[in-house]
Amino acid sequence: MTTKIKYNFFTNKISYIQVGGRTKGYIVTSSIELISFLMRYHFHIKYVGATSNLLFAFNYYDGYIVRYINVNIEISNKNLLVGSSVSLKHLSSFCLDNGIDGFNRIKGIPGLVGGSIVNNSSCFNESISDNLISIKCIDKKGEIISLKKESINFSYHKSSLKDICILEAIFEIKYKNIEDSLIEQNYYEKLRKKLQPPSKNTLGSTFRRIENIKLPFIMEKLKIKTLGNDDVHVSPIHSNFLVIKRKISYEKVLSLIEEIREILYYNISYEIELEIEVVN
Ligand SMILES: Cc1cc2nc3c(=O)[nH]c(=O)nc-3n(C[C@H](O)[C@H](O)[C@H](O)COP(=O)(O)OP(=O)(O)OC[C@H]3O[C@@H](n4cnc5c(N)ncnc54)[C@H](O)[C@@H]3O)c2cc1C
Repeated sequence: MTTKIKYNFFTNKISYIQVGGRTKGYIVTSSIELISFLMRYHFHIKYVGATSNLLFAFNYYDGYIVRYINVNIEISNKNLLVGSSVSLKHLSSFCLDNGIDGFNRIKGIPGLVGGSIVNNSSCFNESISDNLISIKCIDKKGEIISLKKESINFSYHKSSLKDICILEAIFEIKYKNIEDSLIEQNYYEKLRKKLQPPSKNTLGSTFRRIENIKLPFIMEKLKIKTLGNDDVHVSPIHSNFLVIKRKISYEKVLSLIEEIREILYYNISYEIELEIEVVN
């Protein structure tokens, strides 16, 4: 596959939660030349991976949603080279088979490598950037560049990366006994299932963690878990997760988010930041 373009495309067809309006075009491509062209000529673009952190909040998006495809994964010169559209699940399984450590706990995050690096995805004290050496990407001039980890600012579920398309990531290899890795993966998979609602009807954590404030405790106390309705409500398992009925309008999701925000602002006087990314 090199390139497929669909014009007048409804983003609910690719949205993780099947919510979203029409866009000028949806491009799926493995062509570096095309990405380079789109960047050089400043097309209005939103790159996506699995869209597991994105709320498409528009009736019409006057630009292109682009998914770059590179599912290559290989060991080379003692490093691990991973295409940006490899899923974390597949990456973890590959690493397990090859006795490589560092990706056992993040296995359950339903993202791809590119989006996970942009979001610096992490869980249970393991983050995608822990063993990262560098990324290969296309910059806004349309040129292929390599960015070393040290030149990127990574913080909790955030990075300084913008205006680039990630093509590939290079990780340092650290080895671990396969049986130990298997035990670790199984343990954290079970823990995730216990702590989070089923994965297909949510976008993960709605709001960002706040330093020195115990957000889950406050949300619990404010009975945030009781908010919402059949279309979209707060998860009874995790007060920072929304359970979203597929194919509903984005306005319903935004409206519940606003309601929670207002309650929190009224009670803790803090403008809480979204972790879900709203695309509009
Ligand atoms: C059930 C569930 C559980 C979750 N649990 C966790 C968790 O434990 N920890 C956690 O950190 N997150 C979690 N998330 C959130 C989400 O899964 C992660 O942020 C994930 O890593 C995002 O990857 P993605 O491929 O879906 O990226 P997307 O949501 O598609 O995109 C995320 C960002 O990356 C950009 N992007 C995507 N691909 C590229 C590319 N190739 N080049 C440049 N930019 C790109 C997008 O423009 C966007 O800004 C969870 C989500 C769900 C639904």
